[in-house]
Amino acid sequence: MLFKEYLFITAFFGIPGIAGALLARRRGKNPVLWGLLSAPFPFFVFVLWFQKPTEEVPGYFRKCPECGCVYPWKTKVCKYCGRPNE
Ligand SMILES: [Zn+2]
Repeated sequence: MLFKEYLFITAFFGIPGIAGALLARRRGKNPVLWGLLSAPFPFFVFVLWFQKPTEEVPGYFRKCPECGCVYPWKTKVCKYCGRPNE
């Protein structure tokens, strides 16, 4: 019984906490801070999800030197102005 409760609490706070930390890392934000915010308030996971990074995050997001827009790292061309990266 106690173990099940522990498991429930871990999943209840752990999943949004981990999701928040991972999303924060991808957006170049502090994963510890956002993880701690997301654990009791899963609302912050949605805030992060819909928030685009403003600066380049190597491996995750690229900043277009032409128009300054930020787009996913794996995308070959800027999805806003069409400028190819590299
Ligand atoms: Zn561009």
